[in-house]
Amino acid sequence: MTLLIFIIGLIFGSFFNVVGLRIPIGKSIMFPRSSCPKCHCILSPPELIPVLSYVWQKRSCRRCGLLISPIYPFTELSTACLFAAAYAVFGLQFPFLKALILISLLSIIFISDVVYMIIPNKILLFFTCLFFIEWLFLSMPLKLDALIGAAVSFILMMIVAAACRGGIGGGDIKLFTLLGFALGLKGFFLTFFLSLWLGTIGGLLGMLLGKVKRRQPFPFGPFIAFASLLALFYGDVMFKFYLSFFR
Ligand SMILES: [Zn+2]
Repeated sequence: MTLLIFIIGLIFGSFFNVVGLRIPIGKSIMFPRSSCPKCHCILSPPELIPVLSYVWQKRSCRRCGLLISPIYPFTELSTACLFAAAYAVFGLQFPFLKALILISLLSIIFISDVVYMIIPNKILLFFTCLFFIEWLFLSMPLKLDALIGAAVSFILMMIVAAACRGGIGGGDIKLFTLLGFALGLKGFFLTFFLSLWLGTIGGLLGMLLGKVKRRQPFPFGPFIAFASLLALFYGDVMFKFYLSFFR
């Protein structure tokens, strides 16, 4: 079962690559079929096999030799691992569905934010609908928690945005509000502080390695994605650990 879910994750990850690369620039996700960005040849079915095609084509296009970005197999592999991890943690229970929706959203945003520094409204809107449907089936306390999570995250993000005048993108505010809705108040706070920590560490590392210049914007989406996954999988453990300091 885990293997099956892993393979399904690979296929979804491959699809998320297409969505994350095409939606931000207004292209259809159905047409045209996937092609090489340099020689524009249509990829054959074996070339579409997630991860494996990347390995046996030695990381390049078979016709023109263009190096394929490692971001494609990375998304495919990480989606597959996260789908399998969600199954291992939640089993085939209701929260598994929520985890799959969240992982899908984060994989797509990871791609679009790294490549274009955009978190597309279309993607956020689509996933808001999915989370809303999921919300309808929640128990009353959880329903309320989702609404409070969304409200608090929106207000807090607006304050942060006003305080640092444009240092935070509109896409980040919308994404955080949606995550507050999906993860509830506790999950939102964990995601918020973890992403700030991870983003700071990431920014400093980037500067040390000479990849990021001072005051140069860099995509914050991947840090939010990583933080919310930690909140999803280890939220309760981390919250207990944190509270243990106050006893
Ligand atoms: Zn090519």
